[in-house]
Amino acid sequence: MIVGVLKEPLFESRVSLLPESVATLVKKNIQVWVEAKAGDKSFCTDDDYTKQGALIKTREEIFNQSDILLVINGDEIPSSLKNKILIGVFQPLYQHQRMQDWAAQQITSFSLDMLPRTTRAQSMDVLSSQANIAGYKAVLLAADMFPRYFPMFITAAGSIPPAKLLILGAGVAGLQAIATAKRLGAVVEVFDTRPQVKEEVMSLGGKFVEVEGAADASAAGGYAVEQTEEFLQKQKAKIAESVAKADIVISTAQIPGKKAPILVTQAMIESMKKGSVIIDIAAATGGNTDLTKNNETVHHHGVTIVGNSSLPASMPSDASKLYGKNVLNFLQLITTKEAALHLNFDDDLVKGCCITRDGQIIHERVKNAN
Ligand code: NAD
Repeated sequence: MIVGVLKEPLFESRVSLLPESVATLVKKNIQVWVEAKAGDKSFCTDDDYTKQGALIKTREEIFNQSDILLVINGDEIPSSLKNKILIGVFQPLYQHQRMQDWAAQQITSFSLDMLPRTTRAQSMDVLSSQANIAGYKAVLLAADMFPRYFPMFITAAGSIPPAKLLILGAGVAGLQAIATAKRLGAVVEVFDTRPQVKEEVMSLGGKFVEVEGAADASAAGGYAVEQTEEFLQKQKAKIAESVAKADIVISTAQIPGKKAPILVTQAMIESMKKGSVIIDIAAATGGNTDLTKNNETVHHHGVTIVGNSSLPASMPSDASKLYGKNVLNFLQLITTKEAALHLNFDDDLVKGCCITRDGQIIHERVKNAN
């Protein structure tokens, strides 16, 4: 079997498999073909790959002869590609047309962002490994842009109060943001619609602000669900109080397949102190503020609003390392010890992230997302 590692589009700095993970596949008698210069932006040369047993090939050779193709982004898969297995992060709930095209091309696609959020899936969970980086980097970016200290200081020249952070959404990114902000000495308040995260927030030293009446998300496989208008109004009033006191807002609230909820209005932003910073990592799905622009930094009323959902790519070495480990674990699931392909669609993980197969979109949520 040949596994091909493709070079990512220009905007991406990560790669789907690092040389250290290539060695694991080669030991299993799987050939690994890597597109020339695929690892450059993650600081891995073609030589680093060949030393671990990979072969450096052209894009055409990889498209023509690989059995399984590894990517992160699905943006540059040619329409001539037929009958291949594709593994990546394809955001199929937002890419219905592309999924239809791939189905028509008889591509079997596995989108790792659709894996069920279960204990068994944790080692393959690319959303978690990458969101952890996003949460960490969001706080560092905010600290860099903020015109004041994060920690409290009492000095001969006067006292500095600690920075006040407000974190919206305590998923993987939000929890890492709390931990990072606490390490830097900030005071942290947190909102989430899932009351069960309260204990985790508190154990990291954050204050959880409760809003009663959230919709029950227990049947949504760990993901958030849309809230009622009444709840959103109640939540907005409480968030407004916290935003007015905050120096930094890190917003991470997302609902898979939907537009991100607006939690911070323009009026709330105008109530913030000048010099305050908002890092919105939900920007790619619309953002959590009225003023967020994806991949842009907006200045309004003395507040800086950064819309950036690509923070994992700002740490390409570790992001690729963890992504590659997630992919390796998924490959274990779909190959036998003898390195033969074994697609067991009775397995909830294999079925759960398979989007297209046998000429159709087979994933129910993706099918209904149109
Ligand atoms: P996400 O990126 O989808 O969303 C971020 C957070 O925003 C979530 O905590 C969500 O509840 C919150 N949110 C949504 N709407 C909101 C609103 N209106 N106001 C405030 N907050 C709002 O989340 P994620 O990091 O992908 O994690 C989702 C869930 O999956 C969590 O329960 C997490 O513990 C779970 N999880 C499970 C596994 C596993 O078992 N394999 C792995 C990772 C995460």
